Amino acid sequence: MARIVQKFGGTSVANTDRIKAVALRVKKAVDAGDQVAVVLSAMSGETNKLVEYVTTMSKLYDAREYDAVVATGEQVTVGLLALALQDLGVPARSWLGWQIPIRTDGVHGRARIESVETEEMQKRLEKGEVCVVAGFQGIGPDNRITTLGRGGSDTSAVALAAALGADRCDIYTDVDGVYTTDPRITPKARKIDKITYEEMLEMASVGAKVLQTRSVELAMKQKVRVQVLSSYSDEPGTLVVDEDEIVEKELVSGVAYSRDEAKITLVAVPDRPGIAAAIFGPLADNGINVDMIVQNISQDAQATDLTFTLPIADLDRATSTLQAQQENLGYRELRADKNVAKISVIGVGMRSHAGVALRMFQALAEKGINIQVISTSEIKISILIAEEYTELAVRALHTAYGLDAD
Ligand code: ASP
Ligand code: MG
Repeated sequence: MARIVQKFGGTSVANTDRIKAVALRVKKAVDAGDQVAVVLSAMSGETNKLVEYVTTMSKLYDAREYDAVVATGEQVTVGLLALALQDLGVPARSWLGWQIPIRTDGVHGRARIESVETEEMQKRLEKGEVCVVAGFQGIGPDNRITTLGRGGSDTSAVALAAALGADRCDIYTDVDGVYTTDPRITPKARKIDKITYEEMLEMASVGAKVLQTRSVELAMKQKVRVQVLSSYSDEPGTLVVDEDEIVEKELVSGVAYSRDEAKITLVAVPDRPGIAAAIFGPLADNGINVDMIVQNISQDAQATDLTFTLPIADLDRATSTLQAQQENLGYRELRADKNVAKISVIGVGMRSHAGVALRMFQALAEKGINIQVISTSEIKISILIAEEYTELAVRALHTAYGLDAD
């Protein structure tokens, strides 16, 4: 007998038939003797619709009322699932964030969970009742409804699993696990059986969006074992766990990519102390998050080129911010490029192995792909290339690190 949290995303509860299918899956676990708490998203597309209502009603909307509206999608699905379970003879009750309560900070629209009260739920779980909990929502310090940011029901599920001391948090979705790379790019992508929290975080931050990043951070902090699996099959999915649980550490576990990158080069920046702070200060003030940075050594100790990457969505704002400062900063020219992509290879095994980066550079050289920027961390190597080579690069690296399915 285990205590598990099962989370079902929007496509898994897209209509009443799908909700009935979810009820059957929950019943199976209950029949096997497990204690089950369920966390649900809204029906797929529903939250988008609610957000649209809000922005249509008011351009500079009040964030508290935004939350009051967009949190309603989950109220529908939890009530319906509780009914479906009851009809199958399984005792079940729905719970909204404020009823538990799931307490959050007051940052409406992307609140953080601070605590989850579990006394009542524990009692009911022990009696065999299924608790069906609305994801994505909580209650703030002012007793108003808060939401956790888009995709936030993953985080609700992990927080609930941590608070309940659950053995596992199963996240049911429309993919059957986490893959070594995007299967749309190469059919040789393989489902990963086990991945560490750290690797999963890196995969998520570079575009493999299976789980909300915050939910992985929380799982890592609270050591919640998370499984990502499909609500359409009975196959095991991908387990996201602590490094200790993985005996054979892969050198590289996955190849991720992101096309949402842009590159700015400032040509002939005066080489003097304080210049980097003067450039990146105004960008930070504007909430622009810079990623890779390279600065060349200046030949004549007078001027140097500085290149950095940032999200494509921030490119125009960054460009105008820096252009407004051109005289003050003293650079000669600003060059912006949207046609770049970031490719990353990720693996905890690279901490203790040499030559991992070299293999990457060789694989790209063989394909004649030019590397524009390189950056590394303990478990990740990222390169920036021309966007048109994204697929070629991902496939080449997937093969080079021995990740291809047979
Ligand atoms: N329904 C919310 C959203 O669409 C939360 C979630 O699905 O995780 O963002
Ligand atoms: Mg999601």
